[in-house]
Amino acid sequence: MLLLASLAFADDLLLTHARLWDGTGAPVREDVDVLIQGDRIAAIGPDLVAPEGARVLDISGATVIPGLIDSHVHLSMSPGAAWRSDSPEQEDASLRHHLRAYLACGVTTLLDPAVLPDAQARIDATLASGAPGPRYLTLGTPFSPPGGYVQAVIPAFPSVATKAEVERQLDAVVAQGVVGIKTTVEEGFGPRIWPTYDDDVADAIRTGAAARGLRVYTHAAGPREQERAITELGATVLVHPPERHSARLVELAAASNVYEMTTLSILDSMRMGWRPERLDDPLLHLVVPAAELATARDPAVVRGFEDTMFATVYPGVPGKGLLARFGFNERAIAHRLARTNRALRALRDAGVRIVMGSDSGNWPIIPFELHGPTSVREVELLVLAGFSPEEALVSATRTPARMLGLEAGTLQPGRIADLLVVDGDPLADVRALRSLRYTVRGGQARTPAEWMEP
Ligand SMILES: [Zn+2]
Repeated sequence: MLLLASLAFADDLLLTHARLWDGTGAPVREDVDVLIQGDRIAAIGPDLVAPEGARVLDISGATVIPGLIDSHVHLSMSPGAAWRSDSPEQEDASLRHHLRAYLACGVTTLLDPAVLPDAQARIDATLASGAPGPRYLTLGTPFSPPGGYVQAVIPAFPSVATKAEVERQLDAVVAQGVVGIKTTVEEGFGPRIWPTYDDDVADAIRTGAAARGLRVYTHAAGPREQERAITELGATVLVHPPERHSARLVELAAASNVYEMTTLSILDSMRMGWRPERLDDPLLHLVVPAAELATARDPAVVRGFEDTMFATVYPGVPGKGLLARFGFNERAIAHRLARTNRALRALRDAGVRIVMGSDSGNWPIIPFELHGPTSVREVELLVLAGFSPEEALVSATRTPARMLGLEAGTLQPGRIADLLVVDGDPLADVRALRSLRYTVRGGQARTPAEWMEP
């Protein structure tokens, strides 16, 4: 009955006395009403009249902003799953939980850059069955050179070594209904241990993606690898920021009109290992499955995660234990985060478009990149990195909408009604995103607690 009542509300909804940041670049408007009919914004203006039977919400003191878009989320992965043995039933329950968590955290659209066809079909079917969740777009199955990253870490992902294999793989991801393709130029996070594409294969990827009208999204961590991604693969999106930058990369990225994703949470979330009190965050307790919080709190998991990361990045080096501690300590991670922040600021200052992506769920050995709250944290991390709150919000709304060719991301009459009602003023203090009154998804308004009801 509860569900039926909510659906009845979805037809007409009038938000009154809103402060509105519509995401278009227009100034904030005070005391306006927003009329939503069905899943669309019907009108925005002062003193709108509620249609008969409409649900009316007085949202004085709150700010309306577009729903957030997280452009780097691994929805098929449960954080810390490598340290548990979840049954298929538990995995299904976790997926449904994660989908609700995103809405409860204000995220109304996801881009998943790496998902195998079976896992994608399971997620698509769950959403098609009516399970509440954000809009879900993918880049399908990522591919790499034989023995290269990402296959070296997650062997289920395929490799391509010839033009014919590239063509076959591109056709396979097109059949997955992708919005772009995902590949890699990664020689190693420490020493150079992984092969990259030779020129023929790189040419085949660039021309094959262009022929299919698909953007090339590339994982490339170092500045030299990012340059190669842009020049050799024709990448227009880098799915991580460079951890170091060079003047040459910044100039090339600006001249090539690329998008750079933020993924600051990868480093930031590792710090939870030394600051487990961060797991006491009330938002985490509302939206994260208890089993995942327990994994993230387990000191044996934290130690095992550090050792496994070390063994992956420095294969063959007998450094488990002491050396892992040397590379994974709070100071070393803070230093790397500060360096990445500098790179992002330099890219922004040169006019490169910055896109919020959290990398939630990334490697199943990582227990901290929890679905939902990590997206909110990623926006906050951009402000801590020296972006204005408005710049951070643009990177999570209008910019990714343009990258993805979506009509979401800005609020105007006729547009899809994916929006947030946030207590206070997130343009003054972005932490207001944690005081979310309602997430409106396709015209349907629920509080975070209501979205979490199974
Ligand atoms: Zn990722």
